[in-house]
Amino acid sequence: MQRHPQRDGRNITVALIPFGVIGLFITSLLQAPAESEPFPLVSAHEIVADLPALPEIPVVESAQPPESEAEPELLPSLRQSTDWQFVEVSYGDTLSELFVELELDPADLARLLRSGEDAKTLNAMKEGYKLGFRLGDSGDLDEFRLIRSPLQELAFKRDGQEFGIESIRHTPRIETEIKGGTVYSSLLAAAERERVPPTQSMRMVDIFGGKIDFMLDTQPGDQFTIFYEQQFLEDEYVGEGDMLVARFVNRGKEHLAVRYETADGLTGYYSPDGNSMRTGMMRNPLDVFRISSHFNPKRLHPILNKVRPHEGTDYAAPTGTPVRATSDGNITRASRYGSYGNIVIVAHAGGFETRYAHLSRYADGMKPGVRVRQGDVIGYVGSTGSATGPHLHYEVLKDGVPRNPARANELLPSAPGIAAGEMDRFRSHTENLLAQFDTLNRELVRRSAGVSAD
Ligand SMILES: [Zn+2]
Repeated sequence: MQRHPQRDGRNITVALIPFGVIGLFITSLLQAPAESEPFPLVSAHEIVADLPALPEIPVVESAQPPESEAEPELLPSLRQSTDWQFVEVSYGDTLSELFVELELDPADLARLLRSGEDAKTLNAMKEGYKLGFRLGDSGDLDEFRLIRSPLQELAFKRDGQEFGIESIRHTPRIETEIKGGTVYSSLLAAAERERVPPTQSMRMVDIFGGKIDFMLDTQPGDQFTIFYEQQFLEDEYVGEGDMLVARFVNRGKEHLAVRYETADGLTGYYSPDGNSMRTGMMRNPLDVFRISSHFNPKRLHPILNKVRPHEGTDYAAPTGTPVRATSDGNITRASRYGSYGNIVIVAHAGGFETRYAHLSRYADGMKPGVRVRQGDVIGYVGSTGSATGPHLHYEVLKDGVPRNPARANELLPSAPGIAAGEMDRFRSHTENLLAQFDTLNRELVRRSAGVSAD
């Protein structure tokens, strides 16, 4: 196993150097012609010596896990060992700072940077990247790795004075997984209980978002099953793959969606008979994943229910919950409007209009004439206007007449389904998947029935 020393274990003296100084220093190196003599090695501590004394800055270590106290410091082992050693990039780190902190030769950084086009990535360190170092017998950097994800890395190997670069992509092994459960309070609580990866819960909500309002429609006894891919490298789990089949039984009605890539290369989700899951209007304008699973969306403040006349749907949600346009359209208003408080109004094709009221604030750039797409965030939940608690008041109008938002989709054209000429292809691509899902789902239902009988 490779060690992953904690950053906190490093010599903090180096971290106190004003970065501007290092920046200048590195910049001058980068401008040095490739054929110049190796830059004389100046260690970070010599730079420190030339600077006026800096005040002692207390280092807050509350986030540090207790066991890291016992870990040996990175620097001595990095100098002594010719094994691979790894550090994880923290927020705000730059490679030039890290090179100084690790007492690596800054001239080698310049050589890494000019090793090829892909090396530009070295200028954009991101939190969570891992860096690997291997020193040669002489103590100079021999190999360097930038590991962006378990599947993607850049490998640099010393070749004479310079470094060669290789971009490596690992192909994961794909395994399928099935998970299912019953909704008691909310879908999110059920998904958490069944340990569904959040990415896949979000996909399920997206897939059925035009059909089901996961805040208002779900009721105890609803069931979900999802069949999806996971990625592995050797035996290590490295990430989520595609959702293949999703099923949601809402109030006894089954919704089944299968992933399919059309002959034109467009991927979407369809019912087994080829109808698109996408509708002209999303059922729920809120980003339900920003709402804690412990938040009960159905528990409205009693006064909210007395607001008259009432032509829309109220969604109780914490202040600041993102509000999304439920359909493509143009903003016609984003300003204060009487008892609506801060409101965004969007005009859609076919004489439709949606209104989002009581917002705490608008999303950036919201003003009349701005085009928005379905799912774009347009504002944030609040309690401006006549509202006693934070909630979204949502209205759908057609030709100026309020309509029931839950039924609005029936008035709108749906996304096109599979064309008649492609149905054979669709069936042959999806029938195995659906059969596999069916078998596994039956087994899952049988197993969970067995558990509850205990
Ligand atoms: Zn309302």
